[in-house]
Amino acid sequence: MSTRAQQYVADVVAREQVTPHLVRLTVEVPGFVSTGISDEWIGLVVPGQFQSRYYTVRSVEGSTLVLDVVVHPVGLVTEWASGDPVGQQVTITEAKGSFLPPPDAGWLLLVGDLTALPAMTRIAAENATTLPTRIVAEVPLDSRVEDYFPAGVDVTWLPTDGPSRLAEVVETLDFPEGPGYFWMAGESAQMRAIRKHLMRDRTLPSTHYDVMGYWRAVAQRQPRAVDPGPIWRAGKAAGKSDEEIWADYDAAQGAVND
Ligand SMILES: Cc1cc2nc3c(=O)[nH]c(=O)nc-3n(C[C@H](O)[C@H](O)[C@H](O)COP(=O)(O)OP(=O)(O)OC[C@H]3O[C@@H](n4cnc5c(N)ncnc54)[C@H](O)[C@@H]3O)c2cc1C
Repeated sequence: MSTRAQQYVADVVAREQVTPHLVRLTVEVPGFVSTGISDEWIGLVVPGQFQSRYYTVRSVEGSTLVLDVVVHPVGLVTEWASGDPVGQQVTITEAKGSFLPPPDAGWLLLVGDLTALPAMTRIAAENATTLPTRIVAEVPLDSRVEDYFPAGVDVTWLPTDGPSRLAEVVETLDFPEGPGYFWMAGESAQMRAIRKHLMRDRTLPSTHYDVMGYWRAVAQRQPRAVDPGPIWRAGKAAGKSDEEIWADYDAAQGAVND
């Protein structure tokens, strides 16, 4: 059986500068198959490159995907998305997702930085009518978009002008009573700290949280991005939990960058 992931040729049809740090791209992807999982992501390969970077499908309607791309000081996709990508062809890899609240979840708590905004808004749009949802978003002051999340969702904006403090923030958060689902994404070192906190201090069962390192704060452009797809498939095939798989992904990223 081939383990090669499905790939699509896609056209960038629109670009919008949502905030100084956030660019919205609309991409036409003929034949795209959504997983239907609320935090689904794809790999994006931009023209002239072989490396991919991973982006959440903020919304999907047929073959039209909306991606919100964070632009930061340097970066392969950052530099491409900061220019004029409309009319260009890109490669998109098959979608994957990991958001899986357990059947007994009575609430959702979503925490993340700028890179997690697209996933948090889609999760809220698809789940907040059945599960009371709270969002904690850590973003630079100039990237706060008041109507980013669906109306009626409880949103706390945390301003930042430097390194993420999300690990510290989560330690002081009041979690709702009873079983629920905690979803979080952001800078990998912060996510590692949170996993320890959830396991050791809050003793949450691993089925009740999903904590993902979306990017690594390293000195320069990453020499090679680690594809979460094969790690995901291998982990699932080996019967590992989502937590164990994301820990494997963090370790693989560390091996590349250390
Ligand atoms: C499952 C998944 C879903 C994701 N969804 C999204 C999404 O919807 N939107 C989104 O913007 N990102 C998302 N990311 C994160 C994104 O893949 C990374 O931020 C990626 O490294 C950006 O690529 P780049 O080419 O711009 O920078 P790179 O060439 O990868 O990195 C260049 C430099 O920028 C630094 N850097 C990388 N990302 C950031 C950042 N976010 N903030 C500050 N510095 C950074 C690196 O440390 C490095 O020094 C997701 C990641 C995963 C694994």
